[in-house]
Amino acid sequence: QQYVYFFGGGKADGRADMKNLLGGKGANLAEMTSIGLPVPPGFTISTEVCTEFYKNDRTHPASLAAEVSANLRKIEELMGKKFGDSGNPLLLSVRSGARASMPGMMDTVLNLGLNDTTVQGIIAQSGDERFAYDAYRRFVQMYADVVLGMEKDILDHLLDQKKEERGVYLDTDLTAADWKDLVLQYKGAIKAELGIDFPEDPEEQLWGAVNAVFGSWMNQRAITYRKLNNIPAEWGTAVNVQAMVFGNMGQDCATGVAFTRDPSTGENYFYGEFLVNAQGEDVVAGIRTPQPINRAKNKDGELPSMEEVMPECYQQLVRIRETLEKHYRDMQDIEFTIEKGVLYMLQTRNGKRTAPAAIKIAVDMVNEGLIDKKTAVLRVEPSQLDQLLHPTLDPKAERTIIAKGLPASPGAVSGEVVFSADEAEAEAKTGRKVILVRIETSPEDIHGMHAAQGILTARGGMTSHAAVVARGMGKCCVAGCGDIKVDYADESFIAPNGVEVKKGDLITLDGATGEVMLGVVPTVSVQLTGDFATLMGWVDQFRTLKVRANADTPHDARVAREFGAQGIGLCRTEHMFFDAERIAAVREMILSDDLEGRQKALAKILPMQTSDFKGIFREMKGLPVTIRLLDPPLHEFLPQTEKDIDELAATMRVPASTLRHKVEYLHEFNPMLGHRGCRLGITYPEIYDMQVRAIMVAACELIKNNGFSIVPEIMIPLVATVRELALLKRNAVAICEEVIADYGVTMEYLIGTMIELPRAALTADEIASEAEFFSFGTNDLTQTTFGLSRDDAGKFLPFYMDNGIIEQDPFVSLDQTGVGQLVRIASEKGRATRPDIKLGICGEHGGDPASVCFCHTSGLDYVSCSPFRVPIARLAAAHAAL
Ligand code: ADP
Ligand code: MG
Ligand code: MG
Repeated sequence: QQYVYFFGGGKADGRADMKNLLGGKGANLAEMTSIGLPVPPGFTISTEVCTEFYKNDRTHPASLAAEVSANLRKIEELMGKKFGDSGNPLLLSVRSGARASMPGMMDTVLNLGLNDTTVQGIIAQSGDERFAYDAYRRFVQMYADVVLGMEKDILDHLLDQKKEERGVYLDTDLTAADWKDLVLQYKGAIKAELGIDFPEDPEEQLWGAVNAVFGSWMNQRAITYRKLNNIPAEWGTAVNVQAMVFGNMGQDCATGVAFTRDPSTGENYFYGEFLVNAQGEDVVAGIRTPQPINRAKNKDGELPSMEEVMPECYQQLVRIRETLEKHYRDMQDIEFTIEKGVLYMLQTRNGKRTAPAAIKIAVDMVNEGLIDKKTAVLRVEPSQLDQLLHPTLDPKAERTIIAKGLPASPGAVSGEVVFSADEAEAEAKTGRKVILVRIETSPEDIHGMHAAQGILTARGGMTSHAAVVARGMGKCCVAGCGDIKVDYADESFIAPNGVEVKKGDLITLDGATGEVMLGVVPTVSVQLTGDFATLMGWVDQFRTLKVRANADTPHDARVAREFGAQGIGLCRTEHMFFDAERIAAVREMILSDDLEGRQKALAKILPMQTSDFKGIFREMKGLPVTIRLLDPPLHEFLPQTEKDIDELAATMRVPASTLRHKVEYLHEFNPMLGHRGCRLGITYPEIYDMQVRAIMVAACELIKNNGFSIVPEIMIPLVATVRELALLKRNAVAICEEVIADYGVTMEYLIGTMIELPRAALTADEIASEAEFFSFGTNDLTQTTFGLSRDDAGKFLPFYMDNGIIEQDPFVSLDQTGVGQLVRIASEKGRATRPDIKLGICGEHGGDPASVCFCHTSGLDYVSCSPFRVPIARLAAAHAAL
């Protein structure tokens, strides 16, 4: 069995499609080598070794050591250097690489192989003592942190002390002697702290680093990241061991990171940053301000671009950019280093991008002939669209700009300022909207970034940790806002104009401009034209599942249609009852003792309901509209305060005490399972009669006077038995026929039911003998299948999820094994009785991509979701079909 895969000298054992075995980084290093790009030679220890490592109590397969040393010899040959040699030593980088990219989660050790002997070889070869000792101290620092688990602050403190002592600010101002001394100090500190000698033996260093990479797969940050991104722990990580190249050997050296297109906007130009005379993570660490790659985009022109500083390497990199895009047919995120004017590629992967960028790049690449429409549709994640459908700042709104940083991830958000990730999480748990403000972020802050509305950092560039992670999460982020002075101890920051912002103060971030504003600035929703419309057009060609919206008002109906809804799957009539002008009449109806009193009150509501439905039918222009008859428990409409009761008693001309008594009488212990849904229609038939009449009158008037064609779908909720439905259908049909006859029109209408109780699902064959359509009310169906109250689940569901008792909140993503089974049973039974029965779902799940996919494979006709999620559902339906 092969455990180690070599790459170098234009040939590689691995390929890009071997990510499962080699991890993303290793597979792409192999691929880049094979297509002739300059990659320092190296080898990848496969993810299988990681699996074995954890299976066998952190030990390795017996044959691994021999394989590693054979491959190490190959690197030595290609480089003409020897690992551990005193004359011309080979130095290595040891890098982790999981299947899915996990930014910043795993640790890298650079310059491995240095010790007091080999450092002399580096000095001899490079003729640069300062460089050699700089590399050495970096190695000791990283190794101590990553492999030995030494507290990072201790060594950082020694460095700061040294700089202070020497009166310098930048690392680059320290001399060879300074670094040499620091190496000694570091080693001393390690001895004092951990009681061990720093390992001098390069072999021991190598295995220590390899094991540390495997070990880091199970560190807390990696576990958190995997949990947030649904990455299974079984996948494991690979280890890449590679010859070092040096970006820190002088002014003709550099290191950088770039994207082949702009990851924020998708614009087709070379986007990136680099630093002269620097190594590794210096670019993203935010200590020195990096320079842009591209001259044209360097508008402020403060720092010269790579195009100007290193024109030859720049041209070579531009050609590599083209090669990579043609080869991978996707936007790439690359890392490179230049050693003495020679360019080396250290990494490539498909770049993370914002939703607008994803759409633009997909559409552009179709136009450029790089990909087909199907691929373009699959390139955009449905959940990503959420970001796009979110508002931006109202251009007309007043704003007090207090600082400006880099526009790292778009969106416009407001919230209370907090200064730590833990606090962000705690505040968000109580329902507050917070903005996390940090000098810079690190992987330890991920949970806080997740909980916050937006992130503001004082340091770091467009490729800093905060920027990359925020874009991945679809969170608004303003990074590198050097204007502000953050004081963690005081929990405040000071803006350049002297404004002090304290913890709890409200600010607004605009991730598209990088502006930071005081207070809450109002937002507006976005225009859905251009590339978005083009892509959604392709989406609609590929999907078969229809998408409707849940909309209760003409305004919602219009938004839904603009977002591409093909009808309304759920129009809830109770919202119309809560309206301030109407509630009095509704209360009067509920609290009347006799039929006559109720009818009198209902007569007041009828014209209002009629005009509601007319407005909705009008907006939907003949598209199907499903209207649900009154559903919630009556007591929700009751007057709550003494004052309300007294006022109502006066209008109704009854004593307040009688009314109070009636309110008490209507109280229910378990209203969700109480007097609601069709049970109301059965005990108070006049309520549903009025609603059916309003629907039919609205439809008939538009048909007769405005030439509309409308097929109203009347939906009866919470049916458990076919007899309930039969009775209510008979009543409804009578009213429908009466209204149709009155208007003298010819029209069709459908009467159907919601399937939201397990008994209804199990007896769907019987129910389908009456119902002309089913709409799965998956909110209540989840509630009744789990026996779980949605309003009370917050007290224990989070615990269930944290402890793996359930994978996901069943109210967010449909429980396919349980609730989904009922949906499947009911669909089959319904179709057995009535082959052309229309099937759809309404409820939160209609806008959840995984649930949409389930509905597609279960053969439903449509999903219905909130208007803002309609594009997400459309895209998810296309993904399910492709
Ligand atoms: P991450 O997954 O965090 O990006 P990497 O393994 O890519 O970690 O390493 C981080 C950085 O270390 C790289 O961006 C690069 O600058 C530097 N690096 C890695 N390998 C080498 C190498 N062989 N020579 C020089 N620098 C390297
Ligand atoms: Mg890193
Ligand atoms: Mg990297």
